[in-house]
Amino acid sequence: MTNHSLAGIQSQYDVVVIGSGLAGLTGANCLAKLGHRVLLLEHHYQLGGLATYFKRPGGHIFDISLHGFPHGMIKSCRKYWSREIADAIRQLKDVRFLNPEFQIQTTFDRQDFTRILNETFKVPASQVEAFFEHLRQMNYYDNDTRTTRELFEEFFPGRTDIHRLLIEPIAYANGSTMDDPAITFGIVFSNFMSKGVFIFQGGTDVLIAKMTAELKANGVDIQRNCLVEKVYLEKDPDGRPHVRGLRVRSRRDGSEREIACKAVLSNANIKNTILNLVGEENIPASFATETKAVRVNTSSAQVYMGIREGDSIPHIGDLVFTSGAQKFSSQELIDLNTTSRTYSVYYPDTRPHTKAPRYAIVTSINQQWDKWNSMNAEDYAANKTRLIEESFMGLEKYIPDIRKKVDWVEAATPRTVERYVKHWEGASFGTKFEGLKVSMELPDHVAGLYHAGSVGIIMSGWLGTINYGVIVSAKIDAFLRGHGQTFPVG
Ligand SMILES: Cc1cc2nc3c(=O)[nH]c(=O)nc-3n(C[C@H](O)[C@H](O)[C@H](O)COP(=O)(O)OP(=O)(O)OC[C@H]3O[C@@H](n4cnc5c(N)ncnc54)[C@H](O)[C@@H]3O)c2cc1C
Repeated sequence: MTNHSLAGIQSQYDVVVIGSGLAGLTGANCLAKLGHRVLLLEHHYQLGGLATYFKRPGGHIFDISLHGFPHGMIKSCRKYWSREIADAIRQLKDVRFLNPEFQIQTTFDRQDFTRILNETFKVPASQVEAFFEHLRQMNYYDNDTRTTRELFEEFFPGRTDIHRLLIEPIAYANGSTMDDPAITFGIVFSNFMSKGVFIFQGGTDVLIAKMTAELKANGVDIQRNCLVEKVYLEKDPDGRPHVRGLRVRSRRDGSEREIACKAVLSNANIKNTILNLVGEENIPASFATETKAVRVNTSSAQVYMGIREGDSIPHIGDLVFTSGAQKFSSQELIDLNTTSRTYSVYYPDTRPHTKAPRYAIVTSINQQWDKWNSMNAEDYAANKTRLIEESFMGLEKYIPDIRKKVDWVEAATPRTVERYVKHWEGASFGTKFEGLKVSMELPDHVAGLYHAGSVGIIMSGWLGTINYGVIVSAKIDAFLRGHGQTFPVG
């Protein structure tokens, strides 16, 4: 009899989900509700992937990525999770932009942006209307190769200040740049513009606890500290590979198990899934080449500041986009020494249930993996200290005595992202646009193997990944209902 930390896992499931990011969690939940036997394996001790939290001495709880998502989350959570989760979603009403070109306060929705573009930027209402109408009609299947830069030039020629207002928040939300396909901006921006920016009231810890309870109630077998190392395939009589199981290793005691399954839903990064978990020797050479060519998106660095219990800070906005750059540039935004940073300010109403009112501030910047990965230990420590110092200096303009109020501060970098969620080059927002095609075509090359998670920029962020988890779980359900036959699904 096995006597190790993997002993509780059954030897066979209908579907194994690799990873508990929002796409993995949602996919697992949908599949269990459809009656399939589901195992969810997460390498970390905490569920949620990038949508998770951590605790620190002094009663601090920090959210990694609870900065803001579109209104569409309410519908997705109600439909695929629970009314209780959906009902806790609240709007952030105070979004600010502070840079050398403009200082703006907004609710970040279409009506308010129309007003701002009209009154502050002096754009005729008809032109603004035409822009929004164009965005509304954008569609992934149009195969429009125009870039965001070209889109902006068409509607707001030469108005680099307007271009900044439009792209800066979306670049923070999904890592898209002026040179990515316009749809990567258009879809996400339109989602936000529909009604503004929202967060889950209660904090990520409460959200993940509710999701976990829901998964358990629906019969999902959840196992943490479980790293999937290999997906096993076997060939049909006609030579096509299909999934037969996987190998998992306990991060607690190093023990390993093989588990049989008919289908796998991988929430690991698409490049890790295909090139490491499956192995390029098991897929057609052309698909391996296409996978290798997928560019991962940028990574992030963050500074987490906890305000001492009993202290408070004034209201300075909920999401504050700041920059010292005279003009916006996608390159400046990801530079090691960028002056562009977003402050997410968590006031007591983020977690109204806590005994004492608590405040926290999280600074986010977009960063490049290579720059951080190549640092030696000394440079790495010095750059983390620099990030913290720059965050304080930026905040002192709005909260002069911020240093006295903070009793916990730490920095996270692209290396932190890679360590905790295992993403290829610490990618925070999955892949560039071409990743979506590879992700969607995966089951055509390996029957029973599916991927859901941040890809193609448009399927990233909380809403994009949840919805992608739903879409892929429907495909897996169809595959399983076809008695696990190895025909392509998609
Ligand atoms: C700093 C930051 C701020 C962000 N802010 C926002 C925001 O405000 N709004 C928004 O909408 N989005 C935001 N995002 C993006 C958003 O968090 C992500 O797009 C989304 O959470 C990704 O979900 P996912 O399903 O792709 O999986 P991920 O969260 O990437 O999770 C993948 C999971 O798979 C696990 N895993 C990987 N490999 C294995 C393996 N071999 N075995 C077992 N487990 C494995 C990982 O541990 C992880 O738990 C932010 C991201 C970052 C980094």
